[in-house]
Amino acid sequence: MAGHATLSCEEFLDLAAVVAVDAADPEDVQRVEDHASTCPECRAHLDEFRAVAAGLAAFVPQVEPPPDLRDRLLASVAQEPRRLGVVQRIWPRAARRPRFSAAWLVAAASLVVAVAALAWVAILQVQISDLRGSLMLASERASRFDRVASVLASDKLAVKPLQPAQTAAASTGYVFLDPASETGMLMCHDLPPLQQGHAYQVWFIRGNDRVSGGMLWPDLRGDGYTMIQVPADVQSYDSIGLTDEPGSGSAWPTTPRVIGTPLKESSQ
Ligand SMILES: [Zn+2]
Repeated sequence: MAGHATLSCEEFLDLAAVVAVDAADPEDVQRVEDHASTCPECRAHLDEFRAVAAGLAAFVPQVEPPPDLRDRLLASVAQEPRRLGVVQRIWPRAARRPRFSAAWLVAAASLVVAVAALAWVAILQVQISDLRGSLMLASERASRFDRVASVLASDKLAVKPLQPAQTAAASTGYVFLDPASETGMLMCHDLPPLQQGHAYQVWFIRGNDRVSGGMLWPDLRGDGYTMIQVPADVQSYDSIGLTDEPGSGSAWPTTPRVIGTPLKESSQ
């Protein structure tokens, strides 16, 4: 409860992303620095986040989100305070912060995209480090950053939290949809384990139509991200769902939905 309590490593990750984009208050910066000075592993994460934040700034000119995106994010936070909780769970094991200050809420609203992007890029970094030594590394990373940056910069971007089915109650996720580029990103945490050779397939659902958006290959902890294909007329679809399918993909879902979101719910 005490504001100056020592951070756990999980809380650190949550806060370090905010500190890395210069959005934390000085007290939180101090707490992050204090923890980093005693925990080399977290120190490395913080350095990595700062490097990524600097890299993102270079890729997204001016780091200025389209004004209406900012307005929509602020409006959605005002309407639906629960969404902040979802954003907090981007780090799966992060302990919930005891209390949000008003200033923090405003910062969080304008930083939903930035923090989600940091989390995203952090995942990319981990995966990319597994490929260390590959000659493809630099160009692959550049092209992924490029695609991530172009999706985030779209003025048609929609960001939606994913809701788990009862059989996957611990799962969380987030989807970014950009119908303008027909591209999107999807990230999930704590998905139920799959049989070897299976993956989660992303479906766009409209009446009796099921359109595949791509495959998500989670790691052993059930965490994963993927770029997806988004129908240009995505606003005419009812929902998005992920199902357990053979890794080669199915023509039609063969198992019940594990996680997903309605697409029309918030239209007014
Ligand atoms: Zn630590």
